Amino acid sequence: MARLVKCPYCESQLPKDEAVEYKKRYYHESCFNTWRQEAEHRKELIEYILELYKLEAPTGMMLKQIKEFQEDFKYKLKGIELALRYFYETLGNPVQEGSGIGIVPYVYEDAKKHYIMKMNVKESLKDIEKDVEQKVVVVQSPQFTYQKKVKQIDISSL
Ligand SMILES: [Zn+2]
Repeated sequence: MARLVKCPYCESQLPKDEAVEYKKRYYHESCFNTWRQEAEHRKELIEYILELYKLEAPTGMMLKQIKEFQEDFKYKLKGIELALRYFYETLGNPVQEGSGIGIVPYVYEDAKKHYIMKMNVKESLKDIEKDVEQKVVVVQSPQFTYQKKVKQIDISSL
């Protein structure tokens, strides 16, 4: 029987030969990818916070809040970053000295809607472009038939 190992991400067991090994720990492939992506998103969120509040390191309070947002509100790390970007960049609110990230739950849903809408706009722009391309083709084909007809007439009149 294959040796079982415990995935440190979801804490369930899996056969060792199916696991992804990373630093002597064994993950499900999908758990490993999620974990890596979260690590990346966490890094990006922290970098953004440091830039925003001009800090050298995140405060203990901020780290506690991020953890609460994830556990209690089920927020995604990328979502937290986007909520902050929405509040400060899209809405243009000034960054007040000593303020934390407590605003996030108040704007998270609006930010989500905003980004979904932006994505939809992008999609519909793509559709419009496709539409335009199709129209160009439609416009060209009657010209082609017309020229053909003209040629035919020329031939018969000879
Ligand atoms: Zn797992």
